[in-house]
Amino acid sequence: MVYIALGSNIGNRFALLQEAVFCIGSRIGTILSVSKVYETPAWGFESEAFLNACIKIETEQTALDVLDTLLIIEKELGRDRNLSEGYQARPIDLDMLLFNNEIISHERLQVPHPRMELRQFVLTPLADIAAKTVHPQLKKNIEELQQKCEDNSVLSIWNEPLKF
Ligand code: AMP
Repeated sequence: MVYIALGSNIGNRFALLQEAVFCIGSRIGTILSVSKVYETPAWGFESEAFLNACIKIETEQTALDVLDTLLIIEKELGRDRNLSEGYQARPIDLDMLLFNNEIISHERLQVPHPRMELRQFVLTPLADIAAKTVHPQLKKNIEELQQKCEDNSVLSIWNEPLKF
């Protein structure tokens, strides 16, 4: 089981999330569940608010193959958008949060995603679909991590659900 976080803070944010969900479903594996979509104020820099969501997928691919496909999808959905270098706005950001129960420490891939437990924009959507899933390093489930999390960003629920 793979959990992926999606975020977008530029352009048609909802359409970008929806397109990413369809691309993941066709290229990586079967989408089993999709969280609600949340709007989250930008974290650490001034820009548009993010839309965030998480999805659960079942795949036969290795974690590095999944990463490579996520990077390709990010590139495809992000291209031709005239972003100046170094600017932090993202058409689409795709992060692998959990891959089965594995702990992966590779030069290109860290799983569980580092610092996911510090961010409500990850934990809140993830708790929609994985409340009882245990973080293999922290040994706490997502609901417990969410309750402990000191990030007090205010997330609001976006009224349109993602299709899958
Ligand atoms: P960022 O621009 O912050 O989204 O970072 C993207 C880079 O982070 C990618 O090139 C990946 O090689 C690396 N990375 C390491 N761990 C992960 C992960 N769990 N999910 C996605 N990217 C990762």
